[in-house]
Amino acid sequence: MMPPLSRDGCDLAIVGGTVVTPDGTYRADIEINDGVITRVGEPATTGSTVVDAKGMLVLPGGIDGHTHLNSAWPSMGERKPADDFSSGTRAAAAGGITTIGDFVYALGEETLPEAVERVQKDAEAKTHVDFTLHIVVPTLRDGLDAEVAALVESGYPSVKVYMQWPDVVTNGANYIRLLALVARLGGLAMFHCEDRAILEYSRQAFAESGRTAVRYYPASKPVDIEVAATAQALSFAAVAQIPAYIVHLSCAAALDQVLAARARGAQAFVETRPLYLHLTDDCFDSVDPEAARYVGTPPLRGHEDVVRLWKGLSSGQIDVVGSDHVGFTIAQKYQIGDTFETVPKGVANMETMLPMLFSEGVKTGRLTLERFVEVIATGPARIFGLYPQKGVIAVGSDADFCILDPSSHHKVAERSIHGLSDFDVFAGREIFGWPAYTISRGEIIFQDGHINAQAGRGRLVRGKRIAA
Ligand SMILES: [Zn+2]
Repeated sequence: MMPPLSRDGCDLAIVGGTVVTPDGTYRADIEINDGVITRVGEPATTGSTVVDAKGMLVLPGGIDGHTHLNSAWPSMGERKPADDFSSGTRAAAAGGITTIGDFVYALGEETLPEAVERVQKDAEAKTHVDFTLHIVVPTLRDGLDAEVAALVESGYPSVKVYMQWPDVVTNGANYIRLLALVARLGGLAMFHCEDRAILEYSRQAFAESGRTAVRYYPASKPVDIEVAATAQALSFAAVAQIPAYIVHLSCAAALDQVLAARARGAQAFVETRPLYLHLTDDCFDSVDPEAARYVGTPPLRGHEDVVRLWKGLSSGQIDVVGSDHVGFTIAQKYQIGDTFETVPKGVANMETMLPMLFSEGVKTGRLTLERFVEVIATGPARIFGLYPQKGVIAVGSDADFCILDPSSHHKVAERSIHGLSDFDVFAGREIFGWPAYTISRGEIIFQDGHINAQAGRGRLVRGKRIAA
């Protein structure tokens, strides 16, 4: 039921815009008080602040469930990414994203709760937007089950497993046991899908034949690495009776594995990434320093895979687009003597993720507006247990918005404007539809190209039980 119009107005009113939700698109004004949506209808009362959204699309704030901004993981080496929670979430705000999902890796002797506390403090001090945290399950040891269980029950329901990690390969049974425990507590299993045997064989074969230059990176990681691990991950999840979330799926053959598992009754979600929607492995036909910029895991694929991923996104076979943002600089991305093995993996693309998906998806007719909103906001909110606090424009939800101007167009800049990565793999592309405003809990944090937010304003969003 709609609350009555407030006679004194509201903290913030968004007027004249077109509201988009997965269920439909309609004209409505919005009233916001104390950071929460208090009315969706028309007309709005006069607010202390009024955003004129005439001609614009009022979308729920974007949720990027896959970022690496706490810049600390065990195998990182010396090239620590330039972007941290502060700079990375400036890029997020500029790109219409109001919630990120970052990954927590325990370092050294840390317990998982200690690692979560460290990352949470870092995020609370630096972020410009809200955040949720996913737990990476490291090498199994005594006491880990209890740590994971306590975290899942206290608002960190998504746990991530890397299928190629040695301990997963040798102690698979115990990982399934752990996932079954997480399932009973209502959690979600996220899987990084690479098969260790094929990965190692391929790595050795390329090294033995002297093909270690960066341009060989895509060929060194054939789709079978991803396909085999995706199949195994889905079987782990099926046996553990836990919903599966496949991160950064890159190819048709891996998607087929997901469809087969769903046909057998599995609850399986798929995330893909801007790289695989907008680029092909042709980018590697280049000199090493150039090619290095495109190195992520999995590698870029061919044109047919790109076409299939767009179809999957449109039809609902693919649920989510996440950036997998890692903000390296050019100097970090390639140093003389680097091979495809030593180039640090990851690409900064949070700032352009939403506008590019709008431009290349909605403007081209491949995605409906409603589907776009499902993919960038409502879907991830549901999957990560953040709904309806996040991901929807409804009374009682957090007042998070990306107000997108579909008539604005300009080229992607040579470098991230608000992040610290000094190159952009999409530089020069003409993009139609950029965020005019980003609003987080009722605060205008981005307007007309400028960030208006203080670092440290972001809050932790705890995930609720995910499984039924
Ligand atoms: Zn990642």
